[in-house]
Amino acid sequence: MSVVVVGAGLAGIACAAELTAAGVGVRVLDRARRVGGRMATKEIEGREVDYGAAYFTVRDPEFAEVVGRWRTAGLARPWTSELAVLGPGGRRRSPGPMRWAAPHGLRSLVVELADGLRVELDHEVCRVGPGPVVDGDRADVVVLAMPDPQALRLLDPACPAGAALRGRGWRAVLAVTVGYATREWSDLPAAFINDHPVLSMIADDGDRRGDGAPVLVAHTTDAVARRYDQNPDAAVPEVVTAVRELLGLQGDPEWTNAHRWRFAAPECDRDQPFLLTPDGIGLAGDGWGSSRIETAWRSGTLLGREVARGRLAG
Ligand SMILES: Cc1cc2nc3c(=O)[nH]c(=O)nc-3n(C[C@H](O)[C@H](O)[C@H](O)COP(=O)(O)OP(=O)(O)OC[C@H]3O[C@@H](n4cnc5c(N)ncnc54)[C@H](O)[C@@H]3O)c2cc1C
Repeated sequence: MSVVVVGAGLAGIACAAELTAAGVGVRVLDRARRVGGRMATKEIEGREVDYGAAYFTVRDPEFAEVVGRWRTAGLARPWTSELAVLGPGGRRRSPGPMRWAAPHGLRSLVVELADGLRVELDHEVCRVGPGPVVDGDRADVVVLAMPDPQALRLLDPACPAGAALRGRGWRAVLAVTVGYATREWSDLPAAFINDHPVLSMIADDGDRRGDGAPVLVAHTTDAVARRYDQNPDAAVPEVVTAVRELLGLQGDPEWTNAHRWRFAAPECDRDQPFLLTPDGIGLAGDGWGSSRIETAWRSGTLLGREVARGRLAG
């Protein structure tokens, strides 16, 4: 049996890891130059920054085992169970579940999981059609592990899986990384911003990464991300001003970096953890459940298990 997984984010890599463990041959294809998808870390001004997902939470016992392995390897660490909420009423603390961070960046977790898998990067897939066929090559099963709109773009309208992907909006986010000369803030460590016209969240990248660097990552609202869709850099002054006002900062940034996430998260959840249609098309990702890192891992893992079970049964 041959399986092709399109998407080397956490869902696709978890799916491929599960299939490989079950002895199924699998290729993972991703158009990006690196694995990780929205668990995105890149070097900005000589330091790695998490400019996609901010942190992760752990509920599922099986995911907890994987996280335990990452922790032992020094790749993940508990960060904080108390975030701030900033809103019209001022600042308040918001206790919640433990948020986990990754000292080398969240992408390093996907890299670890991808170790030993056959991953082909810089490989954009253009068409997945009945058969299933990936850009003209036949496979037994094809998994699309990515946001719905990206999967819809690839999928031939003749494939029944397409019906499950239509009709749900996805929110956009601009992630603006801001580097300062000194840390003027303390005890942030991340804040949800309520009812703000520009920002939805600010995270202290130095705190979550553990090096104390004076670097913040601000996430905009969907409306601002859409307004600056064609030119994310143009949003930077508005974002920097909003950060300054919200945190009461005096100093100007030394540098900034803007990144657009057109499909950051779905507008509503799904109950189903994945879809596998009888014609051999599988759909996985954080869109299958409640959009978060753990959901992406679980969706890919459960779909991989289901595909492997089908092979054993067949
Ligand atoms: C700004 C932001 C903040 C977030 N904050 C958090 C948070 O704090 N906590 C949390 O738990 N989650 C957070 N998330 C969500 C989290 O990042 C996702 O749930 C998770 O990373 C999704 O993984 P995935 O594998 O489903 O999809 P993705 O990571 O999006 O992977 C999809 C992959 O498919 C590839 N691809 C797409 N089209 C093609 C094609 N045609 N050919 C080949 N490859 C293709 C892409 O390059 C990508 O690598 C955040 C996301 C964003 C954007």
